[in-house]
Amino acid sequence: MTTVSIENTPADAIKSTSDVTVGEVVSNKRGFADDSDSSVRKMVKLSSDAEDETEKEETEKEVGLEIDDEATDAVADSADGEDLDESGLTEYDFESDPDAKETKKLWEMDPMPPLQSIKITKNTCNQARAYLKTEGYMKFLDLFVPPDPTADDIITLAKLLGYVPNDVEKLRKAKNQQEFLHRCIVYLREAINRVLRSRTRLPNFHTLDDVCEALKKAKNILILTGAGISTSLGIPDFRSSTGFYSKMRNLGLDDPQDVFSIDVFREDPSILYNIAHMILPPDKAYTPLHSFIKLLQDRGKLLRNYTQNIDNLEANAGVLPEKLVQCHGSFATASCITCKYKVPGEVLFPNLRSKKIAYCPFCAAERKALLQKYDKMEDEGIYSRRFEQINSFGVMKPDITFFGEDLPERYHNFIKEDIKKCDLLLCIGTSLKVAPVSEIVNRVPNDVPQILINRDPIDHCEFDVELLGYCDQAITWLCGKKLGWKINHKDFDKVLNSGLEMKVLDEAFGSYQITDEEQREGKEKISDEL
Ligand SMILES: [Zn+2]
Repeated sequence: MTTVSIENTPADAIKSTSDVTVGEVVSNKRGFADDSDSSVRKMVKLSSDAEDETEKEETEKEVGLEIDDEATDAVADSADGEDLDESGLTEYDFESDPDAKETKKLWEMDPMPPLQSIKITKNTCNQARAYLKTEGYMKFLDLFVPPDPTADDIITLAKLLGYVPNDVEKLRKAKNQQEFLHRCIVYLREAINRVLRSRTRLPNFHTLDDVCEALKKAKNILILTGAGISTSLGIPDFRSSTGFYSKMRNLGLDDPQDVFSIDVFREDPSILYNIAHMILPPDKAYTPLHSFIKLLQDRGKLLRNYTQNIDNLEANAGVLPEKLVQCHGSFATASCITCKYKVPGEVLFPNLRSKKIAYCPFCAAERKALLQKYDKMEDEGIYSRRFEQINSFGVMKPDITFFGEDLPERYHNFIKEDIKKCDLLLCIGTSLKVAPVSEIVNRVPNDVPQILINRDPIDHCEFDVELLGYCDQAITWLCGKKLGWKINHKDFDKVLNSGLEMKVLDEAFGSYQITDEEQREGKEKISDEL
């Protein structure tokens, strides 16, 4: 688990994206070539045509250098809510658009509608993104930015790309209009970058038959999984409103992620020991979705499963260790934080359940000696920073990856080759918000089909097909009703016979939904009550 969120792309991730425009445009660490400042400059020029040359130059300098930092501060100030990401951009909630299919391309309309009158829908967003990717950002700006753009024009354009600054109202309180405009330009720039480094959808892969064919043909399937594949067993997810982090907030922790901070653990390991019982994996359980991964393994189709889960349920389902990369570690093993002595994870479970700190046998004597020594020193009025970490000296820690720790070596050992080898990518039960796993989708070769199976769509990615619904139901429907594959799980038949139905949400975008009878009745009930 790292604190990096999706916009902090590793440099190699940017380079590996095959889109030509990316190579040209994205080059420095902010993901924007130096030359690109000219586009921002150009926009500022448009708004300051009346100013004389000297003033223009000063304005340009500001945009390139200083405004960046100020905007970054503003972002840091506002990043105290849930799920805000560090760039200060949030995905935009699109307006619904019943006649989306009849809409002509924006630039084919005569005349093209002015920016402020464009209805921002998923459809117009896709058009704008496609234009940006195929034509490059200069042409994109030429087409969409009106003469004398206002800050609101810039915000609208960011929205059209699917992103909105987290706190527009706070931005509006900027010292003056010019500063407001500059800050908005910084956000637009980030939005443009995100689109440029995202994947382009395949032109001919959006039906369920395409999905079945791909699954039948594939020999090296890469699967990314997240909390959504385990929630049917009652294991809490982390980021939802009822998830683990909001429970931690209710317990009074300012930053709930602190329970997984390595610095906090070093100072006070009891915090982890007090809450760990809430996230301990259940014994031997696994879901039909886990069994589906095993099924692909048995059919010789599984290249590897990269899981962000720490529950180790893949092992319960029989997924082989060599087929599994636990990107954020797991409870499967535990290590002494001081000497790295490793034990099987279960050894620690009784302590975690009873909230008693477990100590390493090899470090016990030294710990005792140190405690005595530090006590004596404190009595003598001596202080050392080392005292602060004595609490964790020789303490056993589950091998889950904490914020501030690097990802497991296995991840780095496999990911580069796997990205080259994979012939189908499945993303299941994850909202892809935490890097570097979230960046894998943009790193696999563009011609490899990508399929999402998740409760909610993910607007910041470009999947060829999305199957929306509960993971177990979606995969059971796909295997049982479409592929004729039987998943070896005790609940397979039960789920298969729960009245699963598939609804085409949007065939052109490859969007489908799976529900069971209970959900449909529940929905009817709600709509009756309304
Ligand atoms: Zn030890």
